[in-house]
Amino acid sequence: MNDRASECPHTHFEADVSVHRLTDEASGIVSNFIAEMSVRCTDCCEQFHFIGADAGHSFVRPTVNVGATTLHAPIAPGVAPMPARLQYEAPPRSFE
Ligand SMILES: [Zn+2]
Repeated sequence: MNDRASECPHTHFEADVSVHRLTDEASGIVSNFIAEMSVRCTDCCEQFHFIGADAGHSFVRPTVNVGATTLHAPIAPGVAPMPARLQYEAPPRSFE
């Protein structure tokens, strides 16, 4: 965190999102779609990190890079099937 970032209330944001379409090299058939996202404050340029995802890479669950500044999320076209259960959690009191 830089000096400017430590005093910034972080009220304006910019996100980079890219979508990768992975295909089988021989057949050309699409095997996976992956969305990657990063977020930063446009006032102080502080990069945000994602919370709760494991570091690494997966084609079945969201993961983050080392430092958690990029979210890698497997995606698929269309509407997802109805979930078997819903889970809601209260936010923590502080992100510090
Ligand atoms: Zn900021």
